[in-house]
Amino acid sequence: MKFSTKAIHAGQEPDPATGAIMTPIYQTSTFAQESIGVHKGFEYARTHNPTRQALEKCLASLENGKYGLAFASGMAATSCCANLLKAGDHVIVGEDVYGGTYRLFAKVLNKYGIEFTFIDSRDLNVVKKNIRPNTKMLWIETPTNPLLRLADIKALSLEAKNHKIITVVDNTFASPYFQNPLDLGADVVVHSTTKYIGGHSDVVGGAIVTNDDVIYETLLFHQNAVGGVPGPMDCFLVLRGLKTLSLRANAHAKNAQEVARFLENQKLVEKVYYPGLTSHPQHDLAKAQMRGFGGMVSFVLKGGFEAANTLCQNTKIFTLAESLGGIESLICHPSSMTHGSVPESDRIERGIVDGLLRFSVGIEDIDDLLEDLTTAFSVLDKKLKIKV
Ligand SMILES: *Cc1c(COP(=O)(O)O)cnc(C)c1O
Repeated sequence: MKFSTKAIHAGQEPDPATGAIMTPIYQTSTFAQESIGVHKGFEYARTHNPTRQALEKCLASLENGKYGLAFASGMAATSCCANLLKAGDHVIVGEDVYGGTYRLFAKVLNKYGIEFTFIDSRDLNVVKKNIRPNTKMLWIETPTNPLLRLADIKALSLEAKNHKIITVVDNTFASPYFQNPLDLGADVVVHSTTKYIGGHSDVVGGAIVTNDDVIYETLLFHQNAVGGVPGPMDCFLVLRGLKTLSLRANAHAKNAQEVARFLENQKLVEKVYYPGLTSHPQHDLAKAQMRGFGGMVSFVLKGGFEAANTLCQNTKIFTLAESLGGIESLICHPSSMTHGSVPESDRIERGIVDGLLRFSVGIEDIDDLLEDLTTAFSVLDKKLKIKV
């Protein structure tokens, strides 16, 4: 089956009791047993829930994986993966991973005797150099937030495999529609389903997909033991959202490409980051490992913080808010919002300057989006001119 068919049907059958086409929201904490030890596969809802099971099967299918696990948030999924580690293990992490992932690794899990080295995951040699005898996991995100840098999933996971290192890819930015890390050799895929998979900014969730029996059994054990599971209503919302992922992903990418081109032509824009632009230094890698370039665009404005703030205040459709991947267009100011906790010198060295803005380009009509930006840029232009 192809992607859009799987998104609508995988893991989902009409309800056997009523014929309901949509998977019901099984809002129950427990299930009746016929006799002691005899039941229909469901005992207690932390362990199993039919709505969650449908979602888990559908997510596995979209990532071309055997097993899916759903969680109450992307961070709950991320922290479940840490259960593949133990005290004394070492993890290599791409330096520009999601801020919450950085915080979990550097400020929570480090207390349990796990060591983390943050490196530039664009460079295979840097990864090679940091492998130690006790390195057990390589954690990468591609494209990264907010600079849309890429890591070569195939090359990195091959290197990791040679050292018996588990490769985990956070595939939130690309979504399974544009990139399937398991097909490129990764062992585990993680998602914040809050973003493109849910897609409507109305639910928080997370997921893990893998093909590896042992990894799955370990993660399944921990999902139940630790208990960060999503409720049936949240599972239903994610399942409902992901049915249209192929339509939305195409629309996001089409609009993002046009917005990126528009930004490249603005004289007040110093730099545009979008993997779909030929000016992106890893455009060829993007073409090789992704089927499209996604909906995230970042850019640096001349004029620093003040220019960034002026632009944000003068758009009507693009809304200043955290998060991404929903149908509506959002703006984020990474240096004060998502990356506010990164020390200033580190931030600037990495390119997260005060004039940097990140767009999550929505699926509104492109004419309206470009008009909104044209108006905001003309206000900015006037304001900067008055100042000089
Ligand atoms: C949002 C996000 C997360 C965390 O997910 P939550 O659902 O907010 O817990 C992890 N990774 C990436 C890339 C994200 O964008």
